[in-house]
Amino acid sequence: MRYKKLSLVVGLSFLVLSGCKTSGMDLGGMMDAGMSLTTAATLTDSDIKAIGDKTIAQQDASNKIASAGSKHGKRLASLTADFKQVDGVSLDYKVYVDTDVNAFAVPNGSIRIMSGLLDNMNDDEVRYVLAHEIGHVVLGHSKKAFQVAYASSAARQVAASSGNAAVSALSNSQLGELGESLIGAQFSQKQEYEADDFAVDFLKSKGHKTDGAVTALRKLEKMYGNDSSFFASHPASGQRAARLEQKLAQR
Ligand SMILES: [Zn+2]
Repeated sequence: MRYKKLSLVVGLSFLVLSGCKTSGMDLGGMMDAGMSLTTAATLTDSDIKAIGDKTIAQQDASNKIASAGSKHGKRLASLTADFKQVDGVSLDYKVYVDTDVNAFAVPNGSIRIMSGLLDNMNDDEVRYVLAHEIGHVVLGHSKKAFQVAYASSAARQVAASSGNAAVSALSNSQLGELGESLIGAQFSQKQEYEADDFAVDFLKSKGHKTDGAVTALRKLEKMYGNDSSFFASHPASGQRAARLEQKLAQR
C-alpha cells in the first residue's frame, strides 16, 4: 500500500494515510496535535475488541499463514513461548508468508509478523520487534490508532447510521480498509520511544538480551535508510537505535 486518501469528517477534508513503507501524515502526530475524534470516542472497549477480532480474521483470511509445523511457524512459537499474556492481555501470534520486513498489532492482542522480517533478523532482534509491538498494544497506542482509522474509514458511516451495534454490519471491504489502515498506521515519535522503552524493560523482565533492539534498528536503517521502513518512518530508526544504545549503556 502506498498513499491512500480517506475522507474524514473531523476538521480536515482529507488526510493522507501512509503505508508502512512510506512516510506521510501520521496518526499519532494528528492525535498529538489535539485533533478531536468525537466519533471514535463513542466506541467502547468491547466494540474495539469486536471490530479488532473481525479485522484480524479478515487479514488472516487474505494472507498466507505459515503453518505451525513450518520453519517460520516453529520459530515464532518458540520465540513467543513466554510472551502469551502481558498485563492481562492475551496475545496471539501468526506469521504471514510475505517478503516484507514488517509486523503489526491489533488492539485485541493479535500480533502478526511477516516471514521477511523473520528471515532478516536473529532471535534477539525478533524478540525486540515482538516486544515493541506488545508495547503498542498494552500502552494503548494500537487502540488509539484503531480509533483514528475507524473514524476516518467508510466503516464510520455504518456506525453513524446504526450505533455501536454496527460492528456486525461491517462489510468485508470496510474491514479490509480498517486492516490496511492498521498495518500502515504510523505512531508518533513519543509512542515509538515509549514502545521501545517498554520493549527493553519487558525483555529484561523475561531474562532476555536487549542488544537485539539496537541491532534490529541498525539493520532496518541499513535496509531502508532512515525514512522508508515500518520502523523507520517516525522517528528514524538510526535515531531510535542511538537513543536505545545510550539508555542501555546507562544501566
Ligand atoms: Zn512502533
